[in-house]
Amino acid sequence: MFHSTNPATGERFATHPELTADELEQKLAKAATAFDQWRRTPIAHRVTLLRAVADRYDANRESLARMATDEMGKTLKSALAEVDKCAAAFRHYADHGPAMLEPQRTELTGGGTAEVTWLPQGPVLAIMPWNFPYWQAVRFLAPTILAGNVALLKHASIVQGVAALMEEMALEAGAPEGLFQNLAIKSSAIADLIADDRIVAVTLTGSEGAGVAVAEQAGRNLKKVVLELGGSDPFIVMPSADLDAAVKAAVTGRIQNSGQSCICAKRMIVHADIYDAFLDRYAAAMRAVKAGDPTDPASDMGPLSSFEQRDTVLEQLAEAKRQGATLLFGGEKPDLPGAYLTAGILTDVPLDSPLMAEEIFGPIAMVFRAADIDDAIRIANAIPFGLGSAVWTQDEAEQDRFVRDIAAGMTAINQMLASSPEAPFGGIKRSGHGRELGPFGLHEFMNLKTVFRP
Ligand code: NDP
Repeated sequence: MFHSTNPATGERFATHPELTADELEQKLAKAATAFDQWRRTPIAHRVTLLRAVADRYDANRESLARMATDEMGKTLKSALAEVDKCAAAFRHYADHGPAMLEPQRTELTGGGTAEVTWLPQGPVLAIMPWNFPYWQAVRFLAPTILAGNVALLKHASIVQGVAALMEEMALEAGAPEGLFQNLAIKSSAIADLIADDRIVAVTLTGSEGAGVAVAEQAGRNLKKVVLELGGSDPFIVMPSADLDAAVKAAVTGRIQNSGQSCICAKRMIVHADIYDAFLDRYAAAMRAVKAGDPTDPASDMGPLSSFEQRDTVLEQLAEAKRQGATLLFGGEKPDLPGAYLTAGILTDVPLDSPLMAEEIFGPIAMVFRAADIDDAIRIANAIPFGLGSAVWTQDEAEQDRFVRDIAAGMTAINQMLASSPEAPFGGIKRSGHGRELGPFGLHEFMNLKTVFRP
């Protein structure tokens, strides 16, 4: 049994039954049957379905958003934006996906041609997290539908209401039975699923621990895996930066989704010449962040996704202090019934402390002083992760250095890092491998077949 608990109130408001072994088997069989049909559908038919799904998200945006807010605490305004972004992603693949699947022909030096074609492969299992409960899953679902593959979703335990609604939207849009199924199962059932011959590949967004377990099982069964794991993104501010804009982005970048995004700006690395000026303004802005009722438009952030998630962050803060870090302010439980936590700032975090190897999934920023650009890059790379990064400088030579030397899958220049349907998204090092979104995300689970002709 799964429970939906509103982290803003602590109220348990729904239960969802777990699939039995028989039900799971039936869903797998349906997925295999659906694939046999779907892989042969003309691309125009898939495009029509993508548009119809987008229309369902538009038509139900309030109720969809409300479910996300109720289940994991994000502000209603951000949940609405998330639903809209999902509709845009379905339409993006409807508009531009077919061109990404155009065959490409090459003349061979020995005579004849080789043509590269993209073919679907089968049912793909997606294991998804609660932080952007629609968006994380749609990043997988939209390209899967276009590719001609079939989707099975094992969503996070705390967002089973969202998972059920996603399945409903696809069916209402006219998706054939079995094309997209929600599997209400515990993570203990995943190893057997990955081993099942009917599943061809697996994608996971979540923690490093879950990534290791899934990659291990995928490896044992020689199945392709895409992993989008944690991050501790650097946000570097150099003397030539527009300080006001940088401070604003550093606040939003850290507190968005109550600090629970893999690409949150988690470590502000500031050049010594502007360190004091930055920290003064940043601290003032972070102190002003209002944690409150997520349905109130005046709230900057809601509670964390669960009381357990808040406990994890509180433990990380206690450990940070033991390691010599200074908590300037914040990281407190306000006098509210939900899993709220105030925004805060940590300084003096030793680069060799275990905290540098962790992801802080809450609204707590770390601020570091860098002597020069080499020092900034050294601090930026002093983590096992390599997901995103943001750099603030008007100097083009410095921008080029950062692009070349920051070990990350993404670098944003003079802006906050955010995902977008058109742009590939993913990381290196312990942030995972493979890409979502853009043409690369579409191709990840397809069979790139080379066709030789005389
Ligand atoms: P998890 O990584 O545990 O959850 C993500 C998904 O993986 C969920 O569907 C979960 O299922 C599933 N899962 C968990 N363990 C396994 C496993 N051994 N094998 C297969 N699937 C598994 O994240 P948590 O919710 O526990 O959050 C813990 C931390 O993870 C956060 O503090 C944050 O640092 C990080 N995280 C990162 C995210 C990102 O976007 N990069 C997103 C969410 C979390 P179930 O919910 O049933 O356990």
